[in-house]
Amino acid sequence: MVPEINSRSPQNCRILVIGSDPGSRETLLEPLRWEMWDARGVSSSEEAEALFDSWRPQIVLLDANPDPQGAAWVTNIRGRLPHASVLFISDDSGTDAIITGLDQGADDYIIKPFVPLELLARIRTHLRIRDLHEQLVIANEKLKELVDIDDLTGLYNMRSLYQRLEFEIERGRRFGRDVCVVMMDMDNFKSVNDGHDHLFGSYVLSEIGKIIKANTRNIDIPARYGGDEFLVVLTEVNEEGARLFCERLRKAIAKNTFVSGEDSINLTVSLGFALVQPGEVLSSKELVRRADHALYEAKRTGRDRVCTFVPNNNVHALPVKKIADPASLRRPKKASGG
Ligand SMILES: [Mg+2]
Repeated sequence: MVPEINSRSPQNCRILVIGSDPGSRETLLEPLRWEMWDARGVSSSEEAEALFDSWRPQIVLLDANPDPQGAAWVTNIRGRLPHASVLFISDDSGTDAIITGLDQGADDYIIKPFVPLELLARIRTHLRIRDLHEQLVIANEKLKELVDIDDLTGLYNMRSLYQRLEFEIERGRRFGRDVCVVMMDMDNFKSVNDGHDHLFGSYVLSEIGKIIKANTRNIDIPARYGGDEFLVVLTEVNEEGARLFCERLRKAIAKNTFVSGEDSINLTVSLGFALVQPGEVLSSKELVRRADHALYEAKRTGRDRVCTFVPNNNVHALPVKKIADPASLRRPKKASGG
């Protein structure tokens, strides 16, 4: 939805006039009041700076010439109010002065004596530009969210995940901390789509997203890797911590009954994880590949379990070990795809 342009009420337009001459200041303030704008005048930099934080003007009229003092003013305002429009109001009508003023960072240059209605029209233009700028900032933030987040599960998507994983590996290397990648895949997810309404599959995936979120910390990076496959980056965790996390997640999903309307189902997941340890040089792709290898082994050895990758020089052996899980030993599962 495109927000309404220029939707602000006049009272929400904050305009600050800075000028040492009281008569000149008043000449500027009077037409601003015709428009019902929230206009204030100050005579010194100290007074103006006090308002920068508390009142945050959107337009600043600088009743000064673009000399070194004027330039210092513009720099100061730009630093404190990066999104405010700054207008020189000057009695120097020379082309050099106008160019200097605009080059000093002012958004506009108005020559005294000015026609009040023209001054108001110019300020309205700057208010419109400000509105568009604000809308652009909001739209950009929304767009970024859409690009980074998987809309079905609310988790990160694969694209944004790799950027974050690279960053975490680099951070782990620098600060001597482990980084862990967990790969998780739903067991027999095909049965969800086959036996139920096709929307039920989407519902189950969105619920899985919620369970993953509920079981991760703020510093972890949970993502949907695609289809019914998920990936979680765990930071500041050792192998034991990673194993506990995986088991907790596995059990949370196994004990949950997914119910939507007439449909209901119980599901299990398989997980594999791999760690990059301090001093180890490993790319994000290789780390994910290792976790995927461990996941494959969890699938191969019966599903509903957690496996970890064990580095091994023997390329012919599957470098994975099954983690002892008494519960799964009591309930052996049959492997049958997915
Ligand atoms: Mg699957």
